[in-house]
Amino acid sequence: MASPQGSRAPLEFGGPLGAAALMLLLPATMFHLLLVARSGPARLLGLPPYLPGPEVLWSPQMLLLWLTWLGLQAALYLLPARKVAEGLELKDKSRLRYPINGFQALVLTALLVGLAVSVGLPLGALPEMLLPLAFAATLTAFVFSLLLFLKALVAPVSALAPGGNSGNPIYDFFLGRELNPRISSFDFKYFCELRPGLIGWVLINLALLMQEAELRGSPSLAMWLVNGFQLLYVGDALWHEEAVLTTMDITHDGFGFMLAFGDLAWVPFTYSLQAQFLLHHPQPLGLPMASVICLINAVGYYIFRGANSQKNTFRKNPSDPRVAGLETIPTATGRQLLVSGWWGLVRHPNYLGDLIMALAWSLPCGVSHLLPYFYLLYFTALLVHREARDEQQCLQKYGRAWHEYCRRVPYRILPYVY
Ligand code: NDP
Repeated sequence: MASPQGSRAPLEFGGPLGAAALMLLLPATMFHLLLVARSGPARLLGLPPYLPGPEVLWSPQMLLLWLTWLGLQAALYLLPARKVAEGLELKDKSRLRYPINGFQALVLTALLVGLAVSVGLPLGALPEMLLPLAFAATLTAFVFSLLLFLKALVAPVSALAPGGNSGNPIYDFFLGRELNPRISSFDFKYFCELRPGLIGWVLINLALLMQEAELRGSPSLAMWLVNGFQLLYVGDALWHEEAVLTTMDITHDGFGFMLAFGDLAWVPFTYSLQAQFLLHHPQPLGLPMASVICLINAVGYYIFRGANSQKNTFRKNPSDPRVAGLETIPTATGRQLLVSGWWGLVRHPNYLGDLIMALAWSLPCGVSHLLPYFYLLYFTALLVHREARDEQQCLQKYGRAWHEYCRRVPYRILPYVY
């Protein structure tokens, strides 16, 4: 049984009060964005045009559709994988195994959707269902988190996450108590991280593109760019799926409301905001400007992919010829820290690339509204906070070596600025 005393990890996110506020604020923000994106003025900071009643939000058919989507992705997860990867070593010295078939799930979903559309599935009608679908996803996230919380009560202490076990039920419900909740080999957190939400996001984008084509004869250049950029991002994440096994989400954070809501509801329904905005507020975009935006996205992607691949290659095999020549700092744990290459530029070059791409996703929406820039603003806040959390964890892991790294690479995300 899990220890009832709670762990001594310092509380994050403002403790129980902050966790409670976030559990209300995050869904409220998501519904606000969904409502204002379709409203005429599309004001990020204004009031939504109307408050939807329960009859608009609640639909048993939409709940069924959402559960079918989760069921389909779960079935694709269970298909034979091209590779089975091992995660990092756990507290009890064991390693979990994970199927690497996320990209395969994306391709199979695309084939299934293509087939369904060719026999008359009205995918262009999906944008009209976003509100009740988002409600179903939020409801699912709450219920799922509750089940995970209860499951963690009977989990062995070695299975608990470093945080999320404070003894305060609200805080622990939010942060997640168990690190890797599973039934048999089905890993709930790993499944949710990259599949239903990310693939759902590009499917919603595609539906918005199709509805725009129905409304205006053809999709706009701005809509093509947003769809293309975000498909590249999702395809890349799934192609490099194994890299998720070393991220903070998998190795450190428990599986609770924060990740369940984030993965299942927040990502598909708010990350598709630019495409939602464009459907209701078409923006003219000429080829020269489109080329500049493509260049910005390419630069962002180059930094993002270069930095992530360099670290992953180095962590897998420091003598790999692609990274063997890089300068490193030894640490007391036996692991080394890169101090040249991308990781010598700033301490989180991958975040820098991600933020440049976020800018490129908003620019096709023009500069008349703040709303499409919500992702960039939110993501900056998220990555600044995430960076601080990661630094704290690295300081605990590496102590003086981390101080030395910070001395040699003084900037966190943006060279000479931050
Ligand atoms: P990172 O990939 O940034 O990994 C951080 C870890 O890297 C540290 O804990 C440390 O772990 C290792 N590390 C740090 N510095 C060095 C160094 N100099 N040399 C070698 N190893 C180092 O973690 P994230 O999970 O935050 O991000 C992964 C990707 O996901 C990023 O590209 C991020 O932008 C993206 N992301 C996207 C989100 C979205 O919603 N779109 C949300 C969150 C992240 P150790 O030493 O133990 O290996």
